[in-house]
Amino acid sequence: MMLEMKSAAEISLMRAAGQLVAEILARLEERIKPGATTADLNRLAERYIYQKGAQPAFKGYRGFPATLCTSVNEHVVHGIPGARVLNEGDIISIDCGVQLNGFYGDAAWTFAVGHISEEKRNLLDVGEQSLQKGIAKATVGNRLSDISAAIQRYVEEKGMSVVRDYTGHGIGRQLHESPEIRNFGRPGRGPRLTKGMVLAIEPMVNLGTHHVDTEEDGWTVTTRDRMPSAHFEHTIAVTETGYEILTLLPELLPKGGY
Ligand code: MG
Ligand code: MG
Repeated sequence: MMLEMKSAAEISLMRAAGQLVAEILARLEERIKPGATTADLNRLAERYIYQKGAQPAFKGYRGFPATLCTSVNEHVVHGIPGARVLNEGDIISIDCGVQLNGFYGDAAWTFAVGHISEEKRNLLDVGEQSLQKGIAKATVGNRLSDISAAIQRYVEEKGMSVVRDYTGHGIGRQLHESPEIRNFGRPGRGPRLTKGMVLAIEPMVNLGTHHVDTEEDGWTVTTRDRMPSAHFEHTIAVTETGYEILTLLPELLPKGGY
């Protein structure tokens, strides 16, 4: 497995790409209301990306037709934006990737549409916290699967499940680079983390079963039991003293604090 380390100069370019993604998610959050369509959100993101001289990373990737992945309720990932209207009580994950000055940034967040059930609120909290548990292990000297194990342990302690079929990834001049980062597994396996690794860590957390299926559109991934799912992702860089979240903006600061 080829693991590419990024120089300080490369990480500073990746920070710019990551900040653009964070900014887009923050702007979209203001638009997530009952009555909005997922196509509205996609249009806004796409316009903003081009305005900033960047390119949408997902549009055309293996034939994906849109700038954002918008995944509502039982959708896990890769939902296609369209005429679907958001309703009070829905949750929607928005995954956004951009390419800017030759480097990619990638992040996802799951938002509440108006007032949501206690059950969905817990799912969002556990999903967000599981991402933080994983990121906390992304430090020099740890092994790659320490991230995976921390995510799985936290989610299962809370009585929820992690999706097996999709993973996080290295990121840089390519959207998806080595290594693949599972959200489950035993700790102490895989490559040792070193300064200059840039990783997109992205747990997908289900309220019910971890099993998923792909819809007839060929993209939308759905929980097999149709129970809700949440997705949280940050692009992070492993640094000398810890990690830096490249896709973090103050608007996205979790209540727990990073
Ligand atoms: Mg990703
Ligand atoms: Mg993503």
